[in-house]
Amino acid sequence: MTDRTGAPLDARALLRGTSDTAKDINRRKIIRSVMISPRTQVGIAKDTRLSPATVSTAVAELQQEGVFRVETGEGERGKRVHLGDVRGVAVGIEVDHSRVTIGVRRLDAVALEYETADFGPDQPVALRFREAARLAKDLVARIGMSNDLIVSVGVGIPAAVDPRTARLTQVSSSLGWDVGGDLRLFLYDEFPDTPVIVDNEANLAAYGEYVYGAGRNHETMLYVKASTGIGAGLVVRGLIFRGRHGIAGEIGHLTMEAEGRVCRCGNRGCLETVAGGARILEQVRQAYSGYRLDLPTTLDRVVERAKSGDPVCRRVLEDAARTIGLALATVCTLWDPETVVVGGELGGAADLLLDVLRESMRRHTVPGVFRVENEPTTVVASELGAGAGARGALAFGLEVEASARKK
Ligand SMILES: [Zn+2]
Repeated sequence: MTDRTGAPLDARALLRGTSDTAKDINRRKIIRSVMISPRTQVGIAKDTRLSPATVSTAVAELQQEGVFRVETGEGERGKRVHLGDVRGVAVGIEVDHSRVTIGVRRLDAVALEYETADFGPDQPVALRFREAARLAKDLVARIGMSNDLIVSVGVGIPAAVDPRTARLTQVSSSLGWDVGGDLRLFLYDEFPDTPVIVDNEANLAAYGEYVYGAGRNHETMLYVKASTGIGAGLVVRGLIFRGRHGIAGEIGHLTMEAEGRVCRCGNRGCLETVAGGARILEQVRQAYSGYRLDLPTTLDRVVERAKSGDPVCRRVLEDAARTIGLALATVCTLWDPETVVVGGELGGAADLLLDVLRESMRRHTVPGVFRVENEPTTVVASELGAGAGARGALAFGLEVEASARKK
């Protein structure tokens, strides 16, 4: 079937291509699409926005060259296109407030390898990135690959970032990230000659759920991560909606109480000050102060206790879910998404909290959104859980034609 010598093809060379003719650019788009996920030709056309005829011709050629392997079976349209004998590995990194999660995937495999590490809250950004790079390289070695096979690195961070420049939109003093420069510079030394993209973690988690998780097969999808911080990402027909400064989706900073507490962003009464992780912990600890010694110190622990019937933890989490539902209702009235995917610790407590959240959203949106008869907006728990950000970062790193890397 192929004119090849039998040695695996090099993914990096395939993505670099040999020319910038329209045909070659389209070919690379199609290869990227299949590297992200095996798809039917219809799926590739939808993802790349290329015509079915262009996709069909390119897939036939790439199959001939051994780049693609097409499933056998009845009906052209339903057959999925997989990557052939191609060597390469993609890396996704999610740097959170106190944790880093790494996902790496051999491009010819479906399964991801994960690794997480916890940080102290005061660790400088350069150290976090360096540690993330070290973990990623260890993981690449563990799956039998080498660093020179890494085709792309995607990184999600818990702050608004300008996607064009990879600079923080505002200096994020709450992260201790007082950097004004291009965040990719922290990784260029670690991954020479590899395209690196940096985006907001909620945007990338949204993208992860859209490609691999609960947002599959939905044209418009809103993802919310309710954790220490509260963030959201909107995906519209495969595109992440970021707005002009990368701030779109920062629902944690919607004003809920005009005269409320001062938030880490400098405003007052933001959603995070009412329903964020710190406020949840504070309320639980205050209620038990002087009565119990085993006060929870993490949001995970509050969720565990609520699940085992602790009435204080339950009440505090339910109230938080109700308030987040109120904020999401406003977002749904504005954007009318097809589905809302709930992640973070709140998504992990879906059995307990999803109905409370749904009811609050139903109550505060314009009736058409949730009470339309045939196809109301659905609210579901994340399928990818804590891995959503790293998976989305990995997919988005592959998606972007980031070979125009600046030194
Ligand atoms: Zn705020």
